[in-house]
Amino acid sequence: MTISQLARANVLALEPYQSARRLGGSGDVWLNANEYPLPPSFQLRPGNLNRYPDCQPQNVIRHYAAYAGVDADHVLVSRGADEGIELLIRAFCEPGRDAILYCPPTYGMYGVSAETFGVQRRIVATRPDWQLDLPAIEAQLDQVKLVYVCSPNNPTGNTLSHDSLKRLLAMTQGRALLVVDEAYIEFCPQTTLAGWLEHYPHLVILRTLSKAFALAGLRCGFTLANPDVIALLLKVIAPYPLSLPVADIAEQALSNDGLSQMRERVALVTATRRWLADELQKLQKCDVISEVYPSESNYLLVRFPPGSPAFQCLWDQGIILRNQSKQPGLADCLRITIGTRDECQRVVTALRELSLPKISRQEAM
Ligand code: PMP
Repeated sequence: MTISQLARANVLALEPYQSARRLGGSGDVWLNANEYPLPPSFQLRPGNLNRYPDCQPQNVIRHYAAYAGVDADHVLVSRGADEGIELLIRAFCEPGRDAILYCPPTYGMYGVSAETFGVQRRIVATRPDWQLDLPAIEAQLDQVKLVYVCSPNNPTGNTLSHDSLKRLLAMTQGRALLVVDEAYIEFCPQTTLAGWLEHYPHLVILRTLSKAFALAGLRCGFTLANPDVIALLLKVIAPYPLSLPVADIAEQALSNDGLSQMRERVALVTATRRWLADELQKLQKCDVISEVYPSESNYLLVRFPPGSPAFQCLWDQGIILRNQSKQPGLADCLRITIGTRDECQRVVTALRELSLPKISRQEAM
């Protein structure tokens, strides 16, 4: 038997998640993965690496629970929010029988994780305003165990209305878990659903240190849920999901000092985002850009005129953005992570050159 004859059919057919790192590119302005542009300055404290770590390091759990405003038994820590997405599928979905449901345009890993485990995917596009299409979701709920929604949503940047989330919780009660991905919640903390956990046993919230905490390289995320759900996830998680160095840095990031640094970063990113949105809106007037969408996050979604050379032109200059054209309803859209002010200036300058008539553009080169 060949290796491919030995492999599972759904893995052979799987199109892996196109992470920013996998897509490659060679640039000096990386605005394609919603990372924070500068490294935080944590120092690793020496620990006894001959010993296995705790499965759920208690200091990390305690600190995160205090930060999120929930009890410690409502918190699970894992290798990024991506592992949380996967653990839920492993704990709640029977391969070949159960399904997950999600609402594109949105984050790609819900679908990829389901496919990896042979779990069906129900795909219900959002409405044109990127809010949930509740009647269409209700019509698709048979066999669905997990509904994944994302607020603020990646890549559109909008939050979901609390009214629609309440109605979705009522619709899914007793049938499925509602998983709300709050990876970018620090950029609009007032919209969190963490306070709703005590009222809804089937609500699950995903969080991460990868965005506002500037620790994408650490690989540390959290699942907030009622203790019954957490207990099931603990059955399927790896015995030692977090290495000692990860737990050490996570604990520092969640200290009072770490939290105030995070809040300063959020203020800076938000100010830069507003500046960039204003600058890009000016380019709308010269037809380089069709629309700059409002964002509550650390990225902007921008629509370009059909056939715009913007993505390739910036790529060739070492400015790497994320092309979203393949997502439903996002033809000609690019997602721009908010980098440093200088990096954002590079984007504006490069795009402004596209507005110059061809002749003067050549002169400018
Ligand atoms: N959810 C969303 C919406 C994301 O954008 C990301 C990161 N791209 C994740 C989850 C995964 O985060 P982590 O780095 O914690 O695995």
